[in-house]
Amino acid sequence: MAQLESKLLEIDIEPGAVSEISPLLRRVTAPNPSVMTGPGTNAYIVGRQELAVIDPGPSISSHVSAMLEACEGAQLRWIIVTHTHPDHSPAAMLLAEATGAELVGATIENDGHQDTSFKADKELNDGDVFANDEFRLRAVHTPGHVGNHYCFFLEEEKTLFTGDHIMQGTTVVVIPPSGDMAEYLHSLEKLKVLHAEKLAPAHGHVMLEPNSVIQGLIDHRLAREAKVLAAFEQHGSGNLDQLLPLVYDDVDPKVLPVAKIALWSHLLKLETDGRATKQVGDSIEQEIWSLVGA
Ligand SMILES: [Zn+2]
Repeated sequence: MAQLESKLLEIDIEPGAVSEISPLLRRVTAPNPSVMTGPGTNAYIVGRQELAVIDPGPSISSHVSAMLEACEGAQLRWIIVTHTHPDHSPAAMLLAEATGAELVGATIENDGHQDTSFKADKELNDGDVFANDEFRLRAVHTPGHVGNHYCFFLEEEKTLFTGDHIMQGTTVVVIPPSGDMAEYLHSLEKLKVLHAEKLAPAHGHVMLEPNSVIQGLIDHRLAREAKVLAAFEQHGSGNLDQLLPLVYDDVDPKVLPVAKIALWSHLLKLETDGRATKQVGDSIEQEIWSLVGA
């Protein structure tokens, strides 16, 4: 799918190496590159004396060692996860065992894609603040990619840690029912009011001019929604397989299986909005979708 252009802070991403991002921020990227994770999962270390680690990543021993080494000489107080997908949280328990730091995150019912090893000492709530003499880090609930997703705003540097809500170089996947397109777009709107100056994603480079990136993502999803509506005009009622080639006539056929999930999430959003309706079938493929009032 088409990537959005964004201005980047291009500091090399090298698994295992500690990258200096800003006075309060360092990044250690895990060695788990893939189509879904881009160059690998970014763990961010916030602070210089008393630290927070955001998204410790997969439990790969060399990665855990690299994070522990980066924390040497300081006190790791909080281990925070944006969500509990397996490329984000499994290293949390290992870091906590080694340091005694508090585990912070929101847990969710297992939909088959959750890291069930993660146990929070503190369950997150929207607006929670983690503060010390050096920094204030504020939690912002951003459901959409998955229901227990949080972003974090570092007030001193106006940097927003976006987890998998906004990624650089790869498209965010919204897989119903734990993912929700209506909530995803609502969460993007919610982030605009922060007026952040940098976006620090869990995958890819730090992005500049956040609000233009965010607006670009909203526009991109709404343009696809407009194509869903146009497909109904052209085809009338239809199931996922009938609507798919009309809505995604501009993508590489290789990505159609992923596009089909995205189409489903768009249809569910239109249902939430009261604009589309479905006749239930024995499987998702057999559901017949139509426009309300058509
Ligand atoms: Zn994720």
